[in-house]
Amino acid sequence: MDFRACLRFLTVLGLSAACLAGASAQTPKLPEKVPAPKVHAPPAGNIPPEHLGDTPVPEARPGDEASGAEKAKKPAEDKKPAGEPVTPATAPLPTEPPPAAKPKMQADPRSEEKPLSPMPAAELACRWRLRDLGVAFEDRPAEADEAGCSMPYPVSVRGLGKDVALEPAALMNCATAEAAARFARDIIAPAAKREFGTGLKSVTHASAYVCRPRNGTTKLSEHAFGNALDISRFSLADGKTVDVILRPEETEARFLGAVRKAACGPFKTVLGPGNADHDTHFHLDLAPRRNGGTVCE
Ligand SMILES: [Zn+2]
Repeated sequence: MDFRACLRFLTVLGLSAACLAGASAQTPKLPEKVPAPKVHAPPAGNIPPEHLGDTPVPEARPGDEASGAEKAKKPAEDKKPAGEPVTPATAPLPTEPPPAAKPKMQADPRSEEKPLSPMPAAELACRWRLRDLGVAFEDRPAEADEAGCSMPYPVSVRGLGKDVALEPAALMNCATAEAAARFARDIIAPAAKREFGTGLKSVTHASAYVCRPRNGTTKLSEHAFGNALDISRFSLADGKTVDVILRPEETEARFLGAVRKAACGPFKTVLGPGNADHDTHFHLDLAPRRNGGTVCE
């Protein structure tokens, strides 16, 4: 009787040890190569089964085999449908593109100005002049931004004079409000009377305080200091409107040309149609310049 037959026979009787004697006499044939036992990876996190459920289990990464813990929790029907492509476990994980770094703005000393209390005398004096000019305005809290935009003493302006509205109300510094009010009274209103025989009712702006750089640069715009006003339309007392455009008709062209020319001086920068990015408005600002120069294009 060979070893296996002996074992089957005697196991029933609990006498399998007796086979060993026979086995030693008759060595069984073993395969020359024995396959190495498969080693299973421990479950993710090596969580003992008794602790499953009270420990949060991280979500499987795409392409990963479900961890042992997840297998234990997942119902059988939750398996991926056959045929769905499986990403190899070694594939790189999808990564989010890094957030675009904000371009660093060129330094401007005005960025460091912080509001003082009480307000400096020059700011108070400016407000008295606004009242004399009939400007409708209110003080507003300081504006500041990590990019360097700053306006320590803003005013919200809704009228440039007794009978001249600013639409919509706009946030700017007091000096810009004063320059705009004088410009409306001394230049725009007389030009409207001369060309159209009627008064100025309102000025429409496209922007005033805006925290942004100059187009295509890392230099902060004068708008970032509330030091600029973009005018896009003039509305007259008789209901006529004159838009700032590249090719106005003759009378409007004369009116717009006169206004634009006279703005240079009271404002330090005057840009308008024909200049890049300014075909639909006059950009007027009080940029501080060495030697009191102006840029009018
Ligand atoms: Zn502008």
